[in-house]
Amino acid sequence: MSKGLIAGSLLPACSNSPSQSIKNKLPKYWLWLRPDISLNNDEWKQIFEEIRGLGIEAILPEIYSSNMALFDTGDFQTKEPWLERMIPIAHQAGLQIHAWMWTMPCNNPKILSEHPEWYAVNRSGQRADTQPAYVPYYKFLCPRNPEVRAFIANRVKALSNISELDGIHLDYVRLPDVILAEGLQPNYDIIQDQEYPKYDYCYCPTCRQSYKAKVGIDPVDIADPASDKDWYQHRYDAVIELVNEYLVPQAQSKNKTITAAVFPNWQSVRQQWHKFNLDAFLPMLYHGFYNAEIQWIGQETEKSLERLDYQKPIYSGLFLPHMPSKVELTAGINSAINGGASGFSIFSYGDLNSEQKSALQSYISSQTNH
Ligand SMILES: [Zn+2]
Repeated sequence: MSKGLIAGSLLPACSNSPSQSIKNKLPKYWLWLRPDISLNNDEWKQIFEEIRGLGIEAILPEIYSSNMALFDTGDFQTKEPWLERMIPIAHQAGLQIHAWMWTMPCNNPKILSEHPEWYAVNRSGQRADTQPAYVPYYKFLCPRNPEVRAFIANRVKALSNISELDGIHLDYVRLPDVILAEGLQPNYDIIQDQEYPKYDYCYCPTCRQSYKAKVGIDPVDIADPASDKDWYQHRYDAVIELVNEYLVPQAQSKNKTITAAVFPNWQSVRQQWHKFNLDAFLPMLYHGFYNAEIQWIGQETEKSLERLDYQKPIYSGLFLPHMPSKVELTAGINSAINGGASGFSIFSYGDLNSEQKSALQSYISSQTNH
């Protein structure tokens, strides 16, 4: 049982303060949001009230997307402490606020110039800072490098120190996709019928040495790495250790909920997330990217819960552009809930059209007991 669920069950049923009554209880309905920091507090108040009016219980604003942060990091990375400014406004509107941060990619110029050795390396020997896979921002750090682990843990620590923040939400907590979701491959004009060296990570000196010390083999000498279970697990473990030994303890020490956006095709991104010691999981069940129908959302929700041995809650991630009408989004929600989800998470605020707003409002109000 997660601390969030325990804390939630111990809270008094009523409270006069909206921020107290919603604290530490896992929300059922979440919304990812990319902030426009030029808006003033009154404009945000209106937005948050509109979101709450739809029935949404928590927002996940993107406050770190691999370069400059929208909160006080205590170092060179802060652009503006926007998050701290928003927390009381969100709470006043009755919304929890969970800080959405990118984890492994790093596009900060200072780190790029001072720590090229922190970056992940593919099986062709190319470093992700200078030769990233797919897109220029795919500059992933190595999850096993001890200095990288400390660097990322510091960010989670800074967020954990924000006293009124409800939670921390990890995104990109993984390695680059060795095989992209099949619906995405045409966007890059590639066919990935097997694991190609250019997309296969991480073969940096830290990873090679640690594997050699453990099993006596340099991973660059593995003839068929896609079939090597031990080498696969070693990559999974690099991310699991980062999460469970470096990030989760920071969040737990300050009683913050910690969650992650995770992949259904977890093997391809080296993300064995059912072993992450998090409070809840928001799997990105974006069916269109997998050339699947809406009912696939429920099937994947069920698989996710099985992988977790039904010990942690799932809030199925729904991708709005794949379900533009009220009927489709309602079908997506029902598929997730029928698959066993405790609720859902919507990607993202900027894409919400009026039909989708109506779908959310109708569904959520039908679930609320008065
Ligand atoms: Zn590495």
